[in-house]
Amino acid sequence: MKKVIIVGAGLAGSYMAYTLGTKGYNVEVFEKRQDPRSASYGSGRSINLVVGHRGWTALKYAGIEEPIRQIVVPAHGRQIHDIEGNESYFPYSIKGKAIHSISRSEFNKKLVELADSLPNVSLHFNTSCSGVDTKAGIAYFVGDNNPIEVKADLIVGADGAGSAVRKSLQGIPRFNFSQEYIDSGYKEVHIPAAEDGSPQLNLDALHIWPRGQFMLMGLANTDNGFTGTVFAPYDGEFGLDHLHTAEDGLRYFKKYFKDAIPLIPNLGEQWENNPTSALAIIRCKPYHWGSNTMLIGDAAHAIVPFYGEGMNASLEDVRVFCELLDTHGDSDLQAVLQEYSKQRVPAGNAIADLSLRNFVEMRDLVADPKFQLRKKIEAKVQRNNPELWTPLYTQVKFTNIPYYDALMEGQRHDVIMEEVLAMPGIENNWDSDEVEQMILKAL
Ligand SMILES: Cc1cc2nc3c(=O)[nH]c(=O)nc-3n(C[C@H](O)[C@H](O)[C@H](O)COP(=O)(O)OP(=O)(O)OC[C@H]3O[C@@H](n4cnc5c(N)ncnc54)[C@H](O)[C@@H]3O)c2cc1C
Repeated sequence: MKKVIIVGAGLAGSYMAYTLGTKGYNVEVFEKRQDPRSASYGSGRSINLVVGHRGWTALKYAGIEEPIRQIVVPAHGRQIHDIEGNESYFPYSIKGKAIHSISRSEFNKKLVELADSLPNVSLHFNTSCSGVDTKAGIAYFVGDNNPIEVKADLIVGADGAGSAVRKSLQGIPRFNFSQEYIDSGYKEVHIPAAEDGSPQLNLDALHIWPRGQFMLMGLANTDNGFTGTVFAPYDGEFGLDHLHTAEDGLRYFKKYFKDAIPLIPNLGEQWENNPTSALAIIRCKPYHWGSNTMLIGDAAHAIVPFYGEGMNASLEDVRVFCELLDTHGDSDLQAVLQEYSKQRVPAGNAIADLSLRNFVEMRDLVADPKFQLRKKIEAKVQRNNPELWTPLYTQVKFTNIPYYDALMEGQRHDVIMEEVLAMPGIENNWDSDEVEQMILKAL
Protein backbone atom coordinates (compact mmCIF):
# COMPACT_ATOMS: atom_id res chain seq x y z
CA MET A 1 0.00 0.00 0.00
CA LYS A 2 1.21 3.53 -0.74
CA LYS A 3 2.91 5.63 1.88
CA VAL A 4 1.43 9.00 2.83
CA ILE A 5 3.05 11.75 4.91
CA ILE A 6 0.71 14.27 6.51
CA VAL A 7 2.28 17.50 7.75
CA GLY A 8 0.19 18.88 10.63
CA ALA A 9 -2.09 17.03 13.07
CA GLY A 10 -4.69 19.80 13.31
CA LEU A 11 -8.31 19.12 12.41
CA ALA A 12 -7.75 18.48 8.70
CA GLY A 13 -4.53 16.48 9.13
CA SER A 14 -5.75 14.18 11.89
CA TYR A 15 -9.08 13.61 10.12
CA MET A 16 -7.21 12.70 6.92
CA ALA A 17 -4.82 10.42 8.81
CA TYR A 18 -7.76 8.49 10.23
CA THR A 19 -9.66 8.32 6.94
CA LEU A 20 -6.67 7.18 4.85
CA GLY A 21 -5.66 4.86 7.68
CA THR A 22 -9.00 3.07 7.50
CA LYS A 23 -8.39 2.58 3.77
CA GLY A 24 -5.17 0.75 4.58
CA TYR A 25 -2.63 3.43 3.64
CA ASN A 26 0.61 3.54 5.54
CA VAL A 27 0.31 7.02 7.10
CA GLU A 28 2.91 9.03 9.01
CA VAL A 29 1.85 12.31 10.60
CA PHE A 30 4.35 14.99 11.69
CA GLU A 31 3.13 17.77 13.98
CA LYS A 32 5.27 20.65 15.18
CA ARG A 33 3.44 21.06 18.48
CA GLN A 34 3.08 18.69 21.39
CA ASP A 35 0.46 15.95 21.47
CA PRO A 36 -2.96 17.63 21.98
CA ARG A 37 -3.82 14.83 24.43
CA SER A 38 -1.06 15.98 26.81
CA ALA A 39 -2.21 17.78 29.95
CA SER A 40 -0.72 21.19 29.24
CA TYR A 41 -2.10 21.46 25.69
CA GLY A 42 -4.83 23.90 24.85
CA SER A 43 -4.43 26.56 27.52
CA GLY A 44 -5.37 29.89 25.98
CA ARG A 45 -6.90 28.21 22.88
CA SER A 46 -10.53 28.28 23.87
CA ILE A 47 -11.80 28.78 20.34
CA ASN A 48 -15.11 27.11 19.61
CA LEU A 49 -16.07 26.05 16.14
CA VAL A 50 -19.37 25.53 14.42
CA VAL A 51 -19.79 22.11 12.80
CA GLY A 52 -22.17 22.35 9.84
CA HIS A 53 -23.61 19.85 7.39
CA ARG A 54 -20.39 19.51 5.39
CA GLY A 55 -18.45 18.68 8.55
CA TRP A 56 -21.03 16.07 9.54
CA THR A 57 -21.01 14.60 6.01
CA ALA A 58 -17.24 14.17 6.21
CA LEU A 59 -17.40 12.62 9.68
CA LYS A 60 -20.15 10.27 8.54
CA TYR A 61 -18.08 9.30 5.50
CA ALA A 62 -15.30 8.21 7.84
CA GLY A 63 -17.75 6.48 10.19
CA ILE A 64 -16.95 8.75 13.16
CA GLU A 65 -20.05 10.93 13.38
CA GLU A 66 -21.26 9.37 16.65
CA PRO A 67 -18.21 10.00 18.90
CA ILE A 68 -18.18 13.64 17.79
CA ARG A 69 -21.94 14.06 18.40
CA GLN A 70 -21.15 13.38 22.07
CA ILE A 71 -19.12 16.60 22.40
CA VAL A 72 -21.21 19.23 20.60
CA VAL A 73 -23.84 21.77 21.68
CA PRO A 74 -26.65 22.46 19.15
CA ALA A 75 -27.90 25.95 18.27
CA HIS A 76 -31.12 26.21 16.27
CA GLY A 77 -30.98 29.95 15.64
CA ARG A 78 -29.36 33.34 16.10
CA GLN A 79 -30.16 35.45 19.14
CA ILE A 80 -29.67 39.13 18.40
CA HIS A 81 -28.90 41.56 21.25
CA ASP A 82 -29.57 45.18 20.33
CA ILE A 83 -27.85 48.15 21.94
CA GLU A 84 -30.79 48.70 24.33
CA GLY A 85 -30.47 45.13 25.59
CA ASN A 86 -33.53 43.80 23.71
CA GLU A 87 -33.20 40.28 22.35
CA SER A 88 -34.78 38.60 19.33
CA TYR A 89 -34.44 35.02 18.10
CA PHE A 90 -34.28 33.92 14.45
CA PRO A 91 -34.34 30.19 13.64
CA TYR A 92 -31.71 29.08 11.13
CA SER A 93 -33.94 26.83 9.15
CA ILE A 94 -37.62 26.30 8.58
CA LYS A 95 -37.02 22.59 9.15
CA GLY A 96 -35.68 23.06 12.67
CA LYS A 97 -32.09 22.29 11.68
CA ALA A 98 -29.23 23.22 13.99
CA ILE A 99 -25.57 24.11 13.76
CA HIS A 100 -23.31 22.61 16.44
CA SER A 101 -20.69 24.23 18.59
CA ILE A 102 -17.57 22.24 19.48
CA SER A 103 -14.37 23.02 21.35
CA ARG A 104 -11.55 23.03 18.81
CA SER A 105 -9.10 21.41 21.23
CA GLU A 106 -11.55 18.65 22.28
CA PHE A 107 -12.30 17.94 18.63
CA ASN A 108 -8.61 17.82 17.77
CA LYS A 109 -7.87 15.47 20.67
CA LYS A 110 -10.63 13.10 19.57
CA LEU A 111 -9.44 13.01 15.95
CA VAL A 112 -5.82 12.40 17.02
CA GLU A 113 -6.98 9.63 19.34
CA LEU A 114 -8.93 7.99 16.49
CA ALA A 115 -5.99 8.24 14.08
CA ASP A 116 -3.63 6.85 16.71
CA SER A 117 -5.89 3.84 17.28
CA LEU A 118 -5.03 2.49 13.80
CA PRO A 119 -1.93 0.27 13.55
CA ASN A 120 -0.91 1.66 10.15
CA VAL A 121 -0.94 5.33 11.30
CA SER A 122 2.00 6.71 13.26
CA LEU A 123 2.14 10.16 14.81
CA HIS A 124 5.27 12.20 15.57
CA PHE A 125 4.83 15.30 17.71
CA ASN A 126 7.30 18.17 18.32
CA THR A 127 8.54 17.65 14.78
CA SER A 128 8.42 20.60 12.43
CA CYS A 129 8.44 20.48 8.64
CA SER A 130 10.94 22.82 7.01
CA GLY A 131 9.96 22.16 3.39
CA VAL A 132 9.38 19.58 0.70
CA ASP A 133 11.10 18.50 -2.50
CA THR A 134 8.19 17.78 -4.81
CA LYS A 135 10.39 16.25 -7.53
CA ALA A 136 11.86 13.68 -5.17
CA GLY A 137 8.75 13.26 -3.01
CA ILE A 138 10.71 14.06 0.15
CA ALA A 139 9.61 16.10 3.17
CA TYR A 140 12.18 17.60 5.56
CA PHE A 141 11.64 17.86 9.31
CA VAL A 142 13.41 18.99 12.43
CA GLY A 143 12.64 17.12 15.63
CA ASP A 144 14.72 17.26 18.83
CA ASN A 145 17.28 19.22 16.81
CA ASN A 146 17.83 16.28 14.45
CA PRO A 147 17.01 16.84 10.79
CA ILE A 148 14.91 14.05 9.28
CA GLU A 149 14.12 13.29 5.63
CA VAL A 150 11.08 11.17 4.79
CA LYS A 151 10.13 9.91 1.34
CA ALA A 152 6.54 9.09 0.43
CA ASP A 153 4.18 8.52 -2.49
CA LEU A 154 2.03 11.41 -1.29
CA ILE A 155 2.90 14.42 0.89
CA VAL A 156 -0.08 16.27 2.32
CA GLY A 157 0.31 19.85 3.58
CA ALA A 158 -2.22 20.08 6.42
CA ASP A 159 -0.09 22.60 8.27
CA GLY A 160 -2.48 25.52 8.43
CA ALA A 161 -2.34 29.12 7.23
CA GLY A 162 1.44 29.43 7.63
CA SER A 163 2.02 26.12 5.79
CA ALA A 164 5.67 25.15 5.25
CA VAL A 165 4.57 22.75 2.49
CA ARG A 166 2.79 25.57 0.64
CA LYS A 167 5.81 27.85 1.10
CA SER A 168 7.90 25.27 -0.77
CA LEU A 169 5.37 25.37 -3.62
CA GLN A 170 5.37 29.18 -3.61
CA GLY A 171 8.94 29.07 -4.90
CA ILE A 172 7.86 27.20 -8.03
CA PRO A 173 6.93 29.16 -11.19
CA ARG A 174 3.19 29.04 -12.07
CA PHE A 175 2.10 28.26 -8.53
CA ASN A 176 -0.28 31.10 -7.57
CA PHE A 177 -0.57 32.51 -4.07
CA SER A 178 -2.12 35.57 -2.43
CA GLN A 179 -2.58 36.74 1.15
CA GLU A 180 -4.73 39.65 2.28
CA TYR A 181 -5.34 40.89 5.81
CA ILE A 182 -8.77 42.37 6.46
CA ASP A 183 -8.89 45.60 8.47
CA SER A 184 -10.60 43.87 11.41
CA GLY A 185 -9.20 41.55 14.05
CA TYR A 186 -10.65 39.71 17.05
CA LYS A 187 -10.30 39.23 20.76
CA GLU A 188 -11.90 36.53 22.89
CA VAL A 189 -13.56 36.86 26.28
CA HIS A 190 -14.88 33.93 28.28
CA ILE A 191 -18.48 34.04 29.50
CA PRO A 192 -18.65 31.47 32.31
CA ALA A 193 -21.69 29.51 33.50
CA ALA A 194 -23.56 31.06 36.45
CA GLU A 195 -22.43 30.12 39.98
CA ASP A 196 -25.05 27.36 40.15
CA GLY A 197 -23.69 25.92 36.88
CA SER A 198 -26.62 27.05 34.71
CA PRO A 199 -26.02 28.93 31.42
CA GLN A 200 -26.25 32.73 31.53
CA LEU A 201 -27.47 32.90 27.91
CA ASN A 202 -29.86 30.80 25.83
CA LEU A 203 -27.75 27.71 25.03
CA ASP A 204 -29.71 26.95 21.87
CA ALA A 205 -28.48 30.02 19.96
CA LEU A 206 -25.47 31.67 18.45
CA HIS A 207 -25.54 35.09 20.12
CA ILE A 208 -24.74 38.23 18.16
CA TRP A 209 -24.46 41.80 19.36
CA PRO A 210 -24.32 43.53 15.92
CA ARG A 211 -23.08 47.12 16.02
CA GLY A 212 -22.49 48.17 12.41
CA GLN A 213 -18.74 47.98 11.84
CA PHE A 214 -18.14 45.54 14.69
CA MET A 215 -19.85 42.88 16.80
CA LEU A 216 -19.65 40.57 19.76
CA MET A 217 -20.47 36.92 19.17
CA GLY A 218 -21.14 34.17 21.73
CA LEU A 219 -20.91 30.44 21.06
CA ALA A 220 -21.85 27.83 23.69
CA ASN A 221 -19.41 25.41 25.35
CA THR A 222 -20.39 22.02 26.78
CA ASP A 223 -19.87 23.36 30.36
CA ASN A 224 -22.73 25.92 29.93
CA GLY A 225 -20.22 28.74 29.45
CA PHE A 226 -19.77 30.66 26.19
CA THR A 227 -16.80 31.82 24.21
CA GLY A 228 -17.37 35.49 23.38
CA THR A 229 -15.46 37.00 20.48
CA VAL A 230 -15.29 40.69 19.62
CA PHE A 231 -14.64 41.23 15.91
CA ALA A 232 -13.75 44.87 15.21
CA PRO A 233 -11.65 47.14 12.99
CA TYR A 234 -8.18 48.09 14.20
CA ASP A 235 -8.65 51.80 13.37
CA GLY A 236 -10.87 54.47 14.89
CA GLU A 237 -11.64 55.67 18.42
CA PHE A 238 -13.10 52.27 19.33
CA GLY A 239 -10.73 50.31 17.10
CA LEU A 240 -8.71 47.43 18.56
CA ASP A 241 -5.50 49.43 18.15
CA HIS A 242 -6.81 51.91 20.72
CA LEU A 243 -8.31 49.52 23.24
CA HIS A 244 -5.44 47.98 25.19
CA THR A 245 -6.09 48.35 28.91
CA ALA A 246 -8.76 46.90 31.21
CA GLU A 247 -10.29 50.40 31.44
CA ASP A 248 -10.42 50.67 27.63
CA GLY A 249 -12.22 47.33 27.42
CA LEU A 250 -14.74 48.27 30.10
CA ARG A 251 -15.38 51.67 28.47
CA TYR A 252 -15.98 49.92 25.13
CA PHE A 253 -18.37 47.37 26.60
CA LYS A 254 -20.24 50.07 28.59
CA LYS A 255 -20.85 51.96 25.38
CA TYR A 256 -21.71 49.09 23.04
CA PHE A 257 -22.30 45.80 24.86
CA LYS A 258 -23.69 46.94 28.19
CA ASP A 259 -25.95 43.92 28.71
CA ALA A 260 -22.96 41.57 28.35
CA ILE A 261 -20.98 43.16 31.21
CA PRO A 262 -22.75 41.31 34.08
CA LEU A 263 -22.10 38.02 32.25
CA ILE A 264 -18.31 38.41 32.37
CA PRO A 265 -17.02 38.79 35.95
CA ASN A 266 -13.39 39.67 35.13
CA LEU A 267 -14.01 41.44 31.84
CA GLY A 268 -11.35 44.17 32.27
CA GLU A 269 -8.66 41.66 33.19
CA GLN A 270 -9.55 39.38 30.28
CA TRP A 271 -9.62 42.31 27.88
CA GLU A 272 -6.13 43.40 28.88
CA ASN A 273 -4.59 39.91 28.97
CA ASN A 274 -6.18 38.12 26.02
CA PRO A 275 -4.37 38.59 22.72
CA THR A 276 -5.75 40.47 19.74
CA SER A 277 -5.48 38.36 16.60
CA ALA A 278 -5.43 39.37 12.94
CA LEU A 279 -7.57 37.84 10.19
CA ALA A 280 -6.26 37.04 6.73
CA ILE A 281 -7.50 35.41 3.55
CA ILE A 282 -5.08 33.09 1.79
CA ARG A 283 -5.75 31.74 -1.66
CA CYS A 284 -3.61 29.57 -3.90
CA LYS A 285 -3.89 27.59 -7.11
CA PRO A 286 -3.59 24.70 -7.71
CA TYR A 287 -3.98 22.74 -4.47
CA HIS A 288 -1.48 20.12 -5.63
CA TRP A 289 1.87 19.87 -7.38
CA GLY A 290 3.02 17.08 -9.68
CA SER A 291 2.03 13.60 -8.62
CA ASN A 292 2.99 13.63 -4.97
CA THR A 293 2.15 16.87 -3.12
CA MET A 294 -1.19 18.33 -2.09
CA LEU A 295 -2.63 20.95 0.26
CA ILE A 296 -5.75 20.62 2.41
CA GLY A 297 -7.53 22.88 4.89
CA ASP A 298 -6.16 26.27 5.88
CA ALA A 299 -2.87 25.47 4.12
CA ALA A 300 -4.82 25.71 0.86
CA HIS A 301 -7.48 28.30 1.78
CA ALA A 302 -7.39 30.33 4.98
CA ILE A 303 -10.62 32.30 5.23
CA VAL A 304 -12.18 34.76 7.67
CA PRO A 305 -14.33 32.96 10.28
CA PHE A 306 -17.69 34.65 9.68
CA TYR A 307 -19.48 31.74 8.05
CA GLY A 308 -17.93 29.28 10.49
CA GLU A 309 -16.87 27.15 7.52
CA GLY A 310 -13.04 26.99 7.57
CA MET A 311 -12.91 23.64 9.31
CA ASN A 312 -16.02 22.37 7.50
CA ALA A 313 -14.40 23.22 4.16
CA SER A 314 -11.19 21.53 5.34
CA LEU A 315 -12.96 18.28 6.19
CA GLU A 316 -14.83 18.52 2.88
CA ASP A 317 -11.46 18.77 1.04
CA VAL A 318 -10.48 15.44 2.54
CA ARG A 319 -13.83 13.77 1.90
CA VAL A 320 -13.82 14.88 -1.75
CA PHE A 321 -10.22 13.66 -2.21
CA CYS A 322 -11.01 10.29 -0.61
CA GLU A 323 -14.10 9.87 -2.77
CA LEU A 324 -11.93 10.53 -5.82
CA LEU A 325 -9.61 7.77 -4.60
CA ASP A 326 -12.64 5.51 -4.13
CA THR A 327 -13.72 6.16 -7.71
CA HIS A 328 -10.39 6.23 -9.55
CA GLY A 329 -8.00 4.29 -7.31
CA ASP A 330 -4.46 5.56 -6.72
CA SER A 331 -2.58 4.04 -9.67
CA ASP A 332 -2.64 7.47 -11.39
CA LEU A 333 -2.31 9.78 -8.41
CA GLN A 334 -1.51 12.79 -10.58
CA ALA A 335 -4.89 12.52 -12.34
CA VAL A 336 -6.67 12.26 -8.98
CA LEU A 337 -4.80 15.30 -7.67
CA GLN A 338 -5.64 17.30 -10.79
CA GLU A 339 -9.32 16.52 -10.33
CA TYR A 340 -9.04 17.42 -6.63
CA SER A 341 -7.65 20.87 -7.51
CA LYS A 342 -10.25 21.31 -10.24
CA GLN A 343 -13.06 20.81 -7.74
CA ARG A 344 -11.59 22.40 -4.64
CA VAL A 345 -9.95 25.62 -5.88
CA PRO A 346 -13.30 27.16 -6.95
CA ALA A 347 -14.79 25.88 -3.68
CA GLY A 348 -12.01 27.52 -1.62
CA ASN A 349 -12.34 30.82 -3.45
CA ALA A 350 -16.12 30.82 -3.14
CA ILE A 351 -16.15 30.14 0.60
CA ALA A 352 -13.53 32.88 1.05
CA ASP A 353 -15.88 35.33 -0.70
CA LEU A 354 -18.96 34.03 1.13
CA SER A 355 -17.24 34.41 4.49
CA LEU A 356 -16.41 38.06 3.88
CA ARG A 357 -19.99 38.63 2.78
CA ASN A 358 -21.30 37.07 5.99
CA PHE A 359 -19.20 39.47 8.09
CA VAL A 360 -21.30 42.34 6.73
CA GLU A 361 -24.47 40.33 7.35
CA MET A 362 -23.58 39.48 10.95
CA ARG A 363 -22.18 42.78 12.18
CA ASP A 364 -24.53 45.05 10.28
CA LEU A 365 -27.47 43.59 8.42
CA VAL A 366 -28.95 41.36 11.10
CA ALA A 367 -29.92 44.53 12.98
CA ASP A 368 -31.40 46.11 9.84
CA PRO A 369 -35.25 45.92 9.58
CA LYS A 370 -35.01 45.51 5.77
CA PHE A 371 -32.74 42.51 6.22
CA GLN A 372 -35.10 40.99 8.76
CA LEU A 373 -37.99 41.53 6.35
CA ARG A 374 -35.98 39.81 3.60
CA LYS A 375 -35.44 36.81 5.88
CA LYS A 376 -39.19 36.59 6.58
CA ILE A 377 -40.06 36.74 2.87
CA GLU A 378 -37.40 34.17 1.98
CA ALA A 379 -38.61 31.81 4.71
CA LYS A 380 -42.17 32.03 3.38
CA VAL A 381 -41.13 31.43 -0.24
CA GLN A 382 -38.97 28.52 0.87
CA ARG A 383 -41.77 27.02 2.97
CA ASN A 384 -44.20 27.11 0.02
CA ASN A 385 -41.66 26.20 -2.69
CA PRO A 386 -38.88 24.22 -1.05
CA GLU A 387 -37.69 22.78 -4.37
CA LEU A 388 -37.32 26.26 -5.92
CA TRP A 389 -35.89 28.47 -3.19
CA THR A 390 -33.11 27.56 -0.77
CA PRO A 391 -31.70 30.62 1.05
CA LEU A 392 -27.95 31.09 0.76
CA TYR A 393 -27.28 30.44 4.46
CA THR A 394 -29.16 27.13 4.21
CA GLN A 395 -27.19 26.15 1.11
CA VAL A 396 -23.87 26.84 2.81
CA LYS A 397 -24.59 25.44 6.27
CA PHE A 398 -27.17 22.73 5.74
CA THR A 399 -26.35 21.16 2.35
CA ASN A 400 -23.33 19.90 0.38
CA ILE A 401 -24.13 22.10 -2.64
CA PRO A 402 -20.71 23.16 -3.95
CA TYR A 403 -19.75 26.51 -2.40
CA TYR A 404 -19.30 28.06 -5.85
CA ASP A 405 -22.84 27.10 -6.91
CA ALA A 406 -24.20 28.43 -3.62
CA LEU A 407 -22.42 31.75 -4.16
CA MET A 408 -23.84 32.09 -7.69
CA GLU A 409 -27.36 31.21 -6.51
CA GLY A 410 -27.02 33.66 -3.60
CA GLN A 411 -26.11 36.45 -6.01
CA ARG A 412 -29.17 35.63 -8.13
CA HIS A 413 -31.34 35.81 -4.99
CA ASP A 414 -29.82 39.21 -4.10
CA VAL A 415 -30.92 40.69 -7.43
CA ILE A 416 -34.46 39.36 -7.03
CA MET A 417 -34.81 40.40 -3.39
CA GLU A 418 -33.46 43.89 -4.06
CA GLU A 419 -36.30 44.40 -6.51
CA VAL A 420 -38.85 42.97 -4.08
CA LEU A 421 -37.69 45.11 -1.15
CA ALA A 422 -37.89 48.24 -3.36
CA MET A 423 -41.63 47.64 -3.95
CA PRO A 424 -43.78 50.40 -2.43
CA GLY A 425 -45.58 49.19 0.72
CA ILE A 426 -43.57 45.95 0.94
CA GLU A 427 -43.47 46.29 4.76
CA ASN A 428 -47.23 45.73 4.83
CA ASN A 429 -47.84 43.32 1.96
CA TRP A 430 -44.74 41.13 2.15
CA ASP A 431 -46.97 38.19 3.04
CA SER A 432 -49.17 38.54 -0.07
CA ASP A 433 -49.50 36.12 -2.99
CA GLU A 434 -48.52 38.92 -5.34
CA VAL A 435 -45.05 39.18 -3.77
CA GLU A 436 -44.55 35.44 -3.81
CA GLN A 437 -45.64 35.19 -7.46
CA MET A 438 -43.27 38.00 -8.41
CA ILE A 439 -40.36 36.12 -6.83
CA LEU A 440 -41.30 32.84 -8.51
CA LYS A 441 -41.59 34.57 -11.88
CA ALA A 442 -38.17 36.18 -11.44
CA LEU A 443 -36.68 32.79 -10.59
C1 LIG B 1 -11.72 32.89 15.53
C2 LIG B 1 -11.94 31.73 14.63
C3 LIG B 1 -13.15 31.09 14.62
C4 LIG B 1 -13.39 30.02 13.74
N1 LIG B 1 -14.61 29.44 13.72
C5 LIG B 1 -14.84 28.42 12.86
C6 LIG B 1 -16.10 27.77 12.87
O1 LIG B 1 -17.01 28.11 13.61
N2 LIG B 1 -16.31 26.73 11.99
C7 LIG B 1 -15.35 26.33 11.12
O2 LIG B 1 -15.61 25.42 10.32
N3 LIG B 1 -14.13 26.91 11.12
C8 LIG B 1 -13.85 27.93 11.96
N4 LIG B 1 -12.61 28.51 12.00
C9 LIG B 1 -11.59 28.03 11.07
C10 LIG B 1 -10.91 26.77 11.55
O3 LIG B 1 -10.33 26.98 12.82
C11 LIG B 1 -9.83 26.36 10.56
O4 LIG B 1 -10.32 26.42 9.25
C12 LIG B 1 -9.35 24.96 10.84
O5 LIG B 1 -8.76 24.91 12.13
C13 LIG B 1 -8.34 24.53 9.79
O6 LIG B 1 -7.81 23.30 10.13
P1 LIG B 1 -6.38 22.89 9.58
O7 LIG B 1 -6.13 21.53 10.15
O8 LIG B 1 -6.33 23.08 8.12
O9 LIG B 1 -5.37 23.95 10.19
P2 LIG B 1 -4.93 24.14 11.72
O10 LIG B 1 -6.07 23.89 12.62
O11 LIG B 1 -4.25 25.46 11.76
O12 LIG B 1 -3.86 22.99 11.95
C14 LIG B 1 -2.59 23.02 11.37
C15 LIG B 1 -1.67 22.12 12.18
O13 LIG B 1 -0.40 22.08 11.55
C16 LIG B 1 0.61 22.27 12.52
N5 LIG B 1 1.78 22.85 11.84
C17 LIG B 1 1.93 24.13 11.39
N6 LIG B 1 3.13 24.28 10.81
C18 LIG B 1 3.74 23.07 10.87
C19 LIG B 1 5.01 22.60 10.43
N7 LIG B 1 5.88 23.40 9.79
N8 LIG B 1 5.33 21.31 10.64
C20 LIG B 1 4.44 20.45 11.30
N9 LIG B 1 3.24 20.86 11.74
C21 LIG B 1 2.89 22.15 11.52
C22 LIG B 1 -0.01 23.20 13.55
O14 LIG B 1 0.66 23.13 14.80
C23 LIG B 1 -1.44 22.67 13.60
O15 LIG B 1 -1.60 21.63 14.53
C24 LIG B 1 -12.35 29.58 12.88
C25 LIG B 1 -11.11 30.22 12.90
C26 LIG B 1 -10.90 31.27 13.77
C27 LIG B 1 -9.57 31.94 13.74
